[in-house]
Amino acid sequence: MTTILRNLQEVRDRITTACFAAGRNPAGVQLLAVSKTFGADAVIDAVAAGQHAFGENYIQEGVEKIAAVRALHGGNLLWHCIGPVQSNKTKLVAENFDWVQSVDRLKIAQRLSDQRPAHLPPLQLCLQVNIDGGANKSGVLPEEAMALATEVAKLPRLALRGLMSIPEPAADFSVACAVHERARSLFDAINQAGVLSQPMDTLSMGMTADLEAAIHAGSTMVRVGTAIFGGRSSA
Ligand SMILES: *Cc1c(COP(=O)(O)O)cnc(C)c1O
Repeated sequence: MTTILRNLQEVRDRITTACFAAGRNPAGVQLLAVSKTFGADAVIDAVAAGQHAFGENYIQEGVEKIAAVRALHGGNLLWHCIGPVQSNKTKLVAENFDWVQSVDRLKIAQRLSDQRPAHLPPLQLCLQVNIDGGANKSGVLPEEAMALATEVAKLPRLALRGLMSIPEPAADFSVACAVHERARSLFDAINQAGVLSQPMDTLSMGMTADLEAAIHAGSTMVRVGTAIFGGRSSA
């Protein structure tokens, strides 16, 4: 058994256990394997272990990895961009990724919609929310998220799927839950406001350290790197 296979099984067990503890159906939580800094060989190991959705932070690295994995494996995987997207990288994202979870400005969303190739399905998108208000952090402020969602949802080549957040590490489970619950409340408020023609279905929150708290608070997608692929030397 490869390390990645064993790690993936452990992460799936954590997700299942957290779902049962929260009275939730494990089918309601997807696992995104965050493969940043790891090579195509690690992705292929994870694919062999049944994993199909992968997250990349660095756009150039991600684009190269997508091509390398496609050459080895074929094309039926889903790639999520989860790192900062500057204007000069929107074309690469629009042409290569299936999802982008890290959009926090209308201008970036407009460029992604304009640049999404016609032969591909709409780019699936989550808005990144700065849920704990860290001064230097990416993400739309919670009080501005509804207005941004309303505008992004109108763009023709995008499908607004939900919200994504990366809160600061919390001291304990209850503190982590409280922060994730704020994201959950915002998600519910936007859906209930009637400003979207399609309700959002994805609440992307929880990583290696806090996936149990995120699931407790209602996460539908956890993004896990370290617990699957091991520690990273940087980033
Ligand atoms: C790196 C990263 C992750 C995964 O973090 P781990 O702690 O290694 O599980 C998830 N989401 C984002 C946005 C990341 O940058």
